[in-house]
Amino acid sequence: MNRTAEAGPVSAAMTAAELDVADPLAGFRQEFEVPDGTYLVGNSLGALPRAARETLGLELDRWATLGGEAHFDGPLGWKDYHGLLTGPMADLAGAGADEVVAMNALTVNLHLLLVSFYRPTPGRHKVLVENHAFPSDHFAVESQIHQRGYDPATSLVTVAPRDGEELLRHEDVLAAIAEVGDELALVLLPGVQYYTGQVLPMAELAAAGHEVGAVVGLDLAHAVGNVELSLHDWGVDFAVWCSYKYLNGGPGGVGAAYVHRDHVADPDLPKLHGWWGTDPDSRFAMATTFDAIPTVESWQLSNAPILPMAALRASLDVFQRAGGMGPLRRKSELLIAYLDRRLDEVLAGRVENLAPKALAERGCQSALRIVAGDGPRVYEALKAERVWCDWRQPDAIRVAPVPLYNSFADVDRLIEVLDGVTR
Ligand SMILES: *Cc1c(COP(=O)(O)O)cnc(C)c1O
Repeated sequence: MNRTAEAGPVSAAMTAAELDVADPLAGFRQEFEVPDGTYLVGNSLGALPRAARETLGLELDRWATLGGEAHFDGPLGWKDYHGLLTGPMADLAGAGADEVVAMNALTVNLHLLLVSFYRPTPGRHKVLVENHAFPSDHFAVESQIHQRGYDPATSLVTVAPRDGEELLRHEDVLAAIAEVGDELALVLLPGVQYYTGQVLPMAELAAAGHEVGAVVGLDLAHAVGNVELSLHDWGVDFAVWCSYKYLNGGPGGVGAAYVHRDHVADPDLPKLHGWWGTDPDSRFAMATTFDAIPTVESWQLSNAPILPMAALRASLDVFQRAGGMGPLRRKSELLIAYLDRRLDEVLAGRVENLAPKALAERGCQSALRIVAGDGPRVYEALKAERVWCDWRQPDAIRVAPVPLYNSFADVDRLIEVLDGVTR
């Protein structure tokens, strides 16, 4: 079923109802079980794809009837089940099938790839992160620095927005990379910043890092399924993400890792080994010689969590039928523009959006600051009206109208309630 066929023309002055009628992706909302009210937290936990009940149920049935034999049974054999996610996931990442694998969770994958890609030497040991990095990323990097016998006080370098500003200036990030120069071992930055929704210039970051001889890794927790990505062409060395945000993979869902083709088969990279990273042909012969799979799958440690993968398979199927990130991003940009317009028309002077103004520099998440008034109180009032959003310290109500299951009417509802509670 392809519902992307009849795109209507849209113009700047259209109402939410008109935009919803012209929306070629509107039908996809029916494919999700969305909590009651106006659900704008797909950036935090994506909604349940209806079909996940089927894909999960199927694996429960196979478990019940086939037991362990299901590992080797047909195209859904659990032994190779992770491979079912690779193609759709690689499409979302803009990478090859040999460069992407679904496994573990985000922070675990970050550690595994830092083992391989953070190789400090006395002359080149610094890691560049943003000062407002997601705590898990910060902890992972700090602990890896300690693990190698270095000290974050001298090895961790941060880049921050300028005083009085919320967003990172591209030129400041690029200048910081150049300034650390040949002492820089690794750049680890988000594709989309979790607080402001700012998209960082990923291709330029990769080029700038490589220019000084550093490795460039990205945390794409808020980027995958939100903005278009071309990890391979951009030359990004490695990346990690989770699936329970924009990918609707469900709570604690399986994460993913990307490693550029230039590195996937590099025998000199240090790596933690497990039996799921060795050649599948010798794996069940129980050979104890590690024979690395010549793809990113060689980073796999354990047999795969089939149930969360079954849920994710249902969601990735919806992404594919929606036409992938091209059509989704086009709708997302219309939702963003509509939200901005309504904020301007109705809430100017009362609510400020911390997200960048330029469409190319932001994803579907906005970060609303209540200018005159009490942010936490407004957040509680939105919740009481069943407008689902989240509060992030220090000062933002995050809202993320996502193109798969949110409508322009959802944006109107947010604006209407915000208007009522900020007077
Ligand atoms: C959501 C998120 C995480 C979460 O990490 P898990 O290992 O999946 O719990 C990490 N980093 C960023 C930037 C995030 O947005």
